Amino acid sequence: MSVLPILEFPDPRLRTKAAPVTVFDDALKQFVADMFETMYDANGVGLAATQVNVHQRVLVADMSEERNQPLALINAQILEKDGAQVYQEGCLSFPGIYADVTRALHVKVKAQDVDGNQIVVEAEGPLAVCIQHEMDHLDGKVFVDYLSPLKRSMLLKRMDKQRKQAAEA
Ligand code: ZN
Repeated sequence: MSVLPILEFPDPRLRTKAAPVTVFDDALKQFVADMFETMYDANGVGLAATQVNVHQRVLVADMSEERNQPLALINAQILEKDGAQVYQEGCLSFPGIYADVTRALHVKVKAQDVDGNQIVVEAEGPLAVCIQHEMDHLDGKVFVDYLSPLKRSMLLKRMDKQRKQAAEA
C-alpha cells in the first residue's frame, strides 16, 4: 500500500469531473486500499479520488474515532435526500481552513462496493455531510464554492498565509 499525494486548491485538476468505474479488478482494490491509507495518514474523515488526481468515481470515508469503520463507495448516486444541517467542514485539499456549510441532513445513496456489488447506504449527520462533500469532489466541486465571495476570499487568504508560514518554518 502507499500514501498518495493530495492535490491542494487551487490546483485546476480539482475541477475535473470523474468518470464512472467500469472495471472492478485488483487494480481498483489496490487503489481503494491506497486511498484509505492516504486518508488515515492525513487524519482525514473522507477522501475522493479526484483529490489524488485519479478521475474515477471512488470515495472513501471513516467518521469513527477509532478509525475502524472504513466505507468505500464506487459510482455513488444520491437516491433521496432530506432535511438540512449546518456543519463545520474542512478538506484535505484546503489545509488549515474550516467553514460552515449547509447540506442535507439525511441521504440515501446507491453505490457499488469494490467487487461491483450494488449497495444502498443511508447516512445522517456527519457521515451524510462527508458523503455529500466527497461526491461533490467527483463533480469538480469544492466546499468553498458554497460560501459567499467575501467569506471565501478571507479563508483562502488565511490558507495562503498559513502555507507561507509553513514554508518558512
Ligand atoms: Zn474535500
